[in-house]
Amino acid sequence: MPADPTPASEQHPLLDVLTARGARADRLTHVRTFPAREGVTADWPTWADPGVVDGYRALGVARPWAHQVEAADAAWAGRHVALATSTGSGKSLAFWLPALTAVRGPAPATVLYLSPTKALAADQLVGLERLVRAMPDGAPRPRVATCDGDTPTDERRWVTEHADVVLTNPDFLHFSMLPGHRRWARLLRGLRYVVVDEGHAYRGVFGAHVSLVLRRLARLAAHYRPSDRLAPAGTTASAGPVFVVASATTAEPAVSTARLAGVPLDDVVAVTADSSPAGRRTFALWQPPEVAGFERSRASGEAPTHEDDPWALPDPLDPTHTEQEADAVLTPRGAAAHPRRSATAETADLLADLTASGARTLAFTRSRRGAESVAQQARDHLRPVATDLGARVASYRGGYLPEERRALEEALRTGELRGLATTNALELGVDISGLDAVLVAGWPGTRVSLWQQAGRAGRAGAEGLVAFVAREDPLDTYLVTHPEAVFDAALEATVFDPSNPHVLAPQLCAAAQEVPLRAEDLSAFGDPDAVREVLDVLVARGALRRRPSGWYWTHAQPASGMADLRGSGGRPVRVVEATTGRLLGTVDAGSADGQVHDGAVYVHQGATFVVDHLDLEDHVALVVRKDVEHGTWSREVMEIAIDDEGHRPVEGRDWGPVRWGLGPVEVTSQVVSFQRRRLPDMQVLGTEPLDLPSRTLATTAVWWSVPEFVLRAAGVSPDEAPGALHAAEHASIGLLPLLATCDRWDLGGVSTELHPDTGEATVFVYDAYPGGAGFAERGYALGARWLAATRDAIVACSCADGCPACVQSPKCGSDNAPLDKAAAVRLLDAVLSHAPEAATA
Ligand SMILES: [Zn+2]
Ligand SMILES: [Zn+2]
Repeated sequence: MPADPTPASEQHPLLDVLTARGARADRLTHVRTFPAREGVTADWPTWADPGVVDGYRALGVARPWAHQVEAADAAWAGRHVALATSTGSGKSLAFWLPALTAVRGPAPATVLYLSPTKALAADQLVGLERLVRAMPDGAPRPRVATCDGDTPTDERRWVTEHADVVLTNPDFLHFSMLPGHRRWARLLRGLRYVVVDEGHAYRGVFGAHVSLVLRRLARLAAHYRPSDRLAPAGTTASAGPVFVVASATTAEPAVSTARLAGVPLDDVVAVTADSSPAGRRTFALWQPPEVAGFERSRASGEAPTHEDDPWALPDPLDPTHTEQEADAVLTPRGAAAHPRRSATAETADLLADLTASGARTLAFTRSRRGAESVAQQARDHLRPVATDLGARVASYRGGYLPEERRALEEALRTGELRGLATTNALELGVDISGLDAVLVAGWPGTRVSLWQQAGRAGRAGAEGLVAFVAREDPLDTYLVTHPEAVFDAALEATVFDPSNPHVLAPQLCAAAQEVPLRAEDLSAFGDPDAVREVLDVLVARGALRRRPSGWYWTHAQPASGMADLRGSGGRPVRVVEATTGRLLGTVDAGSADGQVHDGAVYVHQGATFVVDHLDLEDHVALVVRKDVEHGTWSREVMEIAIDDEGHRPVEGRDWGPVRWGLGPVEVTSQVVSFQRRRLPDMQVLGTEPLDLPSRTLATTAVWWSVPEFVLRAAGVSPDEAPGALHAAEHASIGLLPLLATCDRWDLGGVSTELHPDTGEATVFVYDAYPGGAGFAERGYALGARWLAATRDAIVACSCADGCPACVQSPKCGSDNAPLDKAAAVRLLDAVLSHAPEAATA
């Protein structure tokens, strides 16, 4: 991103509000200004349907932006398109123009639009209907409709029989449309365009599943397609549907699109040059001040609940997680250890000050309760200033009804509302931009997301201010002190792995149930040999039946039920109040043992509950309301074994005596006991054993191992080694999201001073999903950059012995002990000294 030096006189006026006229200037770690960009328009393409063009003109689009035409032209010519431009750059015109032109053309053509959430499809429908209504009378108007799990049966019938454009989500495709393809034969037969919106949301396990769902879709479209349909004149593309993948600005969009849609890279045109106009934007990096221990929460009147602190779970609203309401709450582990003010409290202050100054501001938070909490605290700050000001701040999150959301969006546009605290529900799709300021409380996970959020600030002819407020964790701390990692590093690529056998197996079963799989189909699902290997396993297990003509699903139940598209790792555990039967929330299957075991303290909306019984068979934890003065901390034992006899080979590479590996592993874990500790002084009140089963996860890990002489040469004594390795492991998990599109909650780690499989001291970092998700692979590919950033993050932290901002981890199964910050730096220095020079550049 280009930046220009800004003379002080031209500083953004809101910077003064942010720093309280200099009183808070020490919290500003960096300011960068991005110049305005002029818009470049182009002529409407000559092939475009005049009615569609008139519709756009009636809505005020006199001429399209050049990038819209470039993408539309490519799609019209039958090329697959990867359209990766910024928020508010008008991506939808680029795909609706060719799609609706095809629908209104002489040959029957249909269009499928996919978005990661239902809400987004609903929003897109509103815009599309507006366009269709604006078209002049004459030719029949395109019939557009959403269809998802909530659509009533009779409406669904109308959609299958009549709709030209169907807006839905991949889950509906997987569970309903593809298994019931006979009902959708009309749509599949005419399928000309498949639009995949917010393509960057399809990452990790979810991305792998969706890529295979899209391959199933293409196979069925071919199955129904009349054999005489030819490719559009003058193109080499196949006669199958054209994929248009629209995404945020990411790295390698063509590669991700080819992988997601299962099409050859050569057939994909990437459109990345954004020709829409943008105002000048000032970007501030901000670190909340240090405060003494627990006082922080008391001082600002906030409850020490999880969304204030780095232990927060990722927002369940994240489209890559789930679109359902979930309200998981962590025991406030280690809450007493914070030396800095929380990002939530800090952001609430900044939002209040910006609102009071008249600026229209959006504050992004990492969780739903974070959004509520920022809005509430900002209102509390504002009420004494002026009674009506408090009413001009609201919160916004998923789970609101479409009408409510649109009312809030409208209120913010008109200025009736000035401040809105929101989760990333607003990051996708929604039509709000041109605000005066955007606050980002806590690293949103990727630079891609950061720019999506930042893109809401500023508009042509007006300046925008963006401030990223660091939470106290290694990644946030690293980023506010390393502006080059925020602004100058390449954007992340969208990472997922369609060849993951744990994803491929259920998807092949689903495909076989739709239409039996033939040998010639296999290449559509990946490397045919690898696919055949997975099929052999499925046949051996009795899941599929092999006949001379192909592979068949012969069971009564739907095969789609085998796949957990969003990779949530099984049914979540419901947390239910025993006396009333009230559902308080849910906890991920994977973390239930550690969080809602018998006797665990569960915090919900500031109230404490104690788990009476965790029923693993019924996936329910019964809790009782009880005021307690303690929290609970579970202890987990964990083992990791390298699986070098599996289907995937183990890869290796040497840096002199340091050995790197990447490959399949088996992680066995068991929650064995828990401690009660008094709050807030954390004094241990007692330890109790737990009788919970051990769990096994087969996944992919990256690891590095170090012979003893390297440790000794680095000045790491045998006593220090476990703490050094453990600290390096934690910090490296915190920093891997810098290089891969993941969150630290997508990863796990194990460190040991002697691992039986490597024979040396080893640190493992693994994907926390069955089969892996592609994150460990990135760590392996970029090992030197990864460990160098890890080392820098630890060194840069001003704490004495390790804190949540460097080497402590919110999900450590051994209670953050032992950890040795200083020895970890010596260890990492030694490891990096063996790195080949080219790798660290
Ligand atoms: Zn620290
Ligand atoms: Zn740990």
